[in-house]
Amino acid sequence: MATSVYNPFESAQEQFDKIAELLELDSGTRELLRQPMLETHFTIPVKMDDGSTKVFKAFRIRHNDARGPAKGGIRFHPLETPDTVRALSMWMTWKCAVVDIPLGGGKGGIICDPHNFSAAEQERLCRGYVRQLHAQLGPNLDVPAPDVMTNGQHMLWMLDEYETIFGGRYPSMITGKPVGMGGSLGRTEATGYGVIYVLKNLLREMNIPVESTTVSLQGFGNVGEYAARMYTELGGKVIAISCWNQADAKSYTFKKESGCDIEELVGIKDSFGGIDKDKASALGYEVLPGEDWLKQDVDILIPAALENQITPTVFPDISSTVKIICEASNGPTTPDCDALIRKRGITLLPDFLCNAGGVTCSYFEQVQCSMNYYWDKSEVFEKLEYCMTKAFSAVYKLSVEKNLYMRDAAYIISINRVAEAAKLRGWV
Ligand code: GLU
Repeated sequence: MATSVYNPFESAQEQFDKIAELLELDSGTRELLRQPMLETHFTIPVKMDDGSTKVFKAFRIRHNDARGPAKGGIRFHPLETPDTVRALSMWMTWKCAVVDIPLGGGKGGIICDPHNFSAAEQERLCRGYVRQLHAQLGPNLDVPAPDVMTNGQHMLWMLDEYETIFGGRYPSMITGKPVGMGGSLGRTEATGYGVIYVLKNLLREMNIPVESTTVSLQGFGNVGEYAARMYTELGGKVIAISCWNQADAKSYTFKKESGCDIEELVGIKDSFGGIDKDKASALGYEVLPGEDWLKQDVDILIPAALENQITPTVFPDISSTVKIICEASNGPTTPDCDALIRKRGITLLPDFLCNAGGVTCSYFEQVQCSMNYYWDKSEVFEKLEYCMTKAFSAVYKLSVEKNLYMRDAAYIISINRVAEAAKLRGWV
């Protein structure tokens, strides 16, 4: 979230400007694409269980919808800022473009800490969000989804409020819904699995067998959990997992040299991804400071928490054994760190390619909702792996051909696609 030094929106703009220069984009296209098209900032009054009213600040930001309706999650976080949401909405545009799905980019956020809310309070907050924003949302306008600290239940409350306002059923106005209520099988796993589909392809290109590799993971929410599950299923070993501890208000790294038992750790985590420290320790895990996840002698680092985690300050702590950084979260690396990563010869799988599995499955969810016919899980995963592999191959090929850092190659593909759509529409 908002850290004192790094502003994610400035980072997103810096990344964009660099590629816009390289592509020699005209000034109109640059101006259009380096900022959001539409921003809504509003407040949500919520009646709390004790009878008091709390007022929450909320945002929905649409970066670009040239390629299709805006798409992107809604985050609940006490440190949410408009600039973070702006950056994330921009990254959603590039994410949808790199996997070539017909959607644009958007993002939402509410400044709040849901750890302390009852289910009824969360429901009122979700309904309040949609009540204020309903005119800006819809299957053909802007389609939200789960993100940091939001889940399928939140999406369903939002959908129900929307359908109550408009009268009728509009299941494709939101994705990440529970299965059986318009959700797609595999959506819960999709982001984490997608990360590993991409990683698997890279390892194949690098001639490294997955079974010979080790990972250190930051974050054990939905994305981290399913990335760890799929990676260990393929034979890899997760040595360390770092996550936030709400009670102590700091993070810890849980380490087992012989390999973490993911199932076991899932059994002792809360719904926000926090692992119970005492239980983990009783199960034989070393409990280390949160930042130690970066210092492990592993082959692969997977940041799957928040933005601005890999900076020039902590970069020297990264072990010389690390060959790959696989960005499962949005914006985990600051732009000033890219040159250092490249110089050290670490291969970076950029966030908006690596974690595009979630939104790709959201797109499948919309398709299924529109048909009112739902695929089985194997069909979802097969289509997901196909899309992720195709996107990876295009980015990888370009990076090899033109000797580009993979983030730059992904940006070139995405920005070209979005700029072309804007041009075809006659906007620029
Ligand atoms: N919140 C996820 C992301 O950042 C998924 C967005 C979506 O499914 O629309 O990619």
